[in-house]
Amino acid sequence: MHDAYRVIALPSEVAAYVRDSRKSPGYGHPAHREVAQGYGPCRHCLRTFHLGEEERILFTYDPFTGIEQVPLPGPVYVHAENCDRYPENGAYPNDLRPHAAVLNAYASGQRLIAQIHVDSGGQDAAVESLLQRPDVDYIEVRDREAGCYDFRIERAETARTLARKRSSNAENLLRCSSQ
Ligand SMILES: [Zn+2]
Repeated sequence: MHDAYRVIALPSEVAAYVRDSRKSPGYGHPAHREVAQGYGPCRHCLRTFHLGEEERILFTYDPFTGIEQVPLPGPVYVHAENCDRYPENGAYPNDLRPHAAVLNAYASGQRLIAQIHVDSGGQDAAVESLLQRPDVDYIEVRDREAGCYDFRIERAETARTLARKRSSNAENLLRCSSQ
């Protein structure tokens, strides 16, 4: 258990939509299913893939959905089969600790306030130092080599506020996709 901050994985509605429709939510591009040739991770359970064994779906996703106005879509993966969403109180995901990442700290309004490069073992101190800054509202974690979005970190108290916005926006997103 970990209550200092929340780890926000891909919403379960979005993972379910991609698995059922094989389309990218909000964009409509075909999603691509394949046997994993890279470690991933799955943006829903935040586990790395078993190379050459597990199947994954590649699709386009905007990680700013529900919290900011300007989209910044990019490629992400989920397990092709059902998996459990990563618990928000699970702290920094263990499967991702060995991998170099970039922590982008944003203020509301999509203003990039600070950026820290982290390697194995440095994640907790980096997250803590960013969240101590009062101007930081949330952190986006990206893979440092691929550049792709992995998950978001929010303070425990702001997670509730953002969750309300997010759920209404997820409904809008899925509505757009069905058009
Ligand atoms: Zn998964």
